[in-house]
Amino acid sequence: MTKSITILGCGISGLSCGVKLQEAGFTDVRIISRTLPPNTTSDVAGGLWFPYKAEPIHRILGWSRSTFQEMMRLRGQAEAGITMTRFFQLHPKPVSGEAWWSSAVEVYRPLGEREIMAEFPNIAEGQFPSGFYAEVPIAEPHKHLPFLMNQFRERGGVIEIGDVKSLSEISHKSRIIVNCTGLEAKKLVGDAELFPIRGQIVVVKNPGINRSITIEADDDGDHSEHATYTIARSEDVILGGVAMTDSWETSIDEATVSGIIARCSAIEPSLKTPQILQHKAGLRPGRTEIRLESEQLSDTCTVIHNYGHGGSGYTVNWGCAEEIVSLARAAS
Ligand SMILES: Cc1cc2nc3c(=O)[nH]c(=O)nc-3n(C[C@H](O)[C@H](O)[C@H](O)COP(=O)(O)OP(=O)(O)OC[C@H]3O[C@@H](n4cnc5c(N)ncnc54)[C@H](O)[C@@H]3O)c2cc1C
Repeated sequence: MTKSITILGCGISGLSCGVKLQEAGFTDVRIISRTLPPNTTSDVAGGLWFPYKAEPIHRILGWSRSTFQEMMRLRGQAEAGITMTRFFQLHPKPVSGEAWWSSAVEVYRPLGEREIMAEFPNIAEGQFPSGFYAEVPIAEPHKHLPFLMNQFRERGGVIEIGDVKSLSEISHKSRIIVNCTGLEAKKLVGDAELFPIRGQIVVVKNPGINRSITIEADDDGDHSEHATYTIARSEDVILGGVAMTDSWETSIDEATVSGIIARCSAIEPSLKTPQILQHKAGLRPGRTEIRLESEQLSDTCTVIHNYGHGGSGYTVNWGCAEEIVSLARAAS
């Protein structure tokens, strides 16, 4: 099997690829990254399995199904930081048919208004006439990323800090480069199709909630930047959020914080006066389509791109990593 694989990036994408390549028998795998956890975009995420702001749907369905299964498997290891949540997606307009991602999960059912109002007594009649229910995993980033780093290192993987300015800078040292640089691939490989989708969340102490919620954006557009959601994790709850396309702003906006708390606590009243633990903002790596493909860089080096996962990095990571393994085998 070929030696010398260099993975660029130590977020959820780079680490999943590293672990999967090792599991597949590749040796001499190293990660080079400008930042390491807890200082990546992957550390800002809620870590909920839920396909959001990523394309194309026909590939995402397969990747998210494989990721779901891998997360269920890893759930058996406490150090992996994976928990399950009861997940409610609420729609401000009636929807018919199944959620397109429903076949990827094990427990799923459409919700009618009566069931929604029984679960959420605060909701007014007509506010959410339909929705979906599912049971989905959450990979808590502050536990899951260190877990993956340990797994990678225990199998002989090396993680180095380094700022790579161009792929040709490292191509002579590697047979295969896996490019997992997220939004920063825009600069590294000059990808004009990448764009930021700003997110901001409030991390609060969990007052005893065991359900997570997303409110489907109103198609009319005026609230489309508001991505209202709660993610109930083992010790905290993530309150979100925003999804601001083309905004590069990563500072915390106070008005956004109050808006998020007001919107979330309108559905989940125990969050009205939350004990705030942390504020976070970050840029989702948006792209017209996730880029997962091989490119021949030179006679001796193939680059496999794996970036542009939008708001779904934790929802497709293992499925993408499995495909990276196939591409790496083909390039060996
Ligand atoms: C507020 C918020 C909430 C989110 N919640 C969820 C969620 O609940 N579920 C979900 O599925 N997704 C969620 N996401 C999306 C998720 O965070 C991203 O899709 C994911 O983190 C992308 O991971 P990545 O590893 O590709 O990129 P990153 O995490 O950005 O990692 C990129 C790595 O590449 C390194 N790098 C970049 N350029 C170079 C270079 N030139 N040389 C060396 N190293 C380099 C960086 O230092 C970094 O280590 C959320 C995002 C935000 C902002």
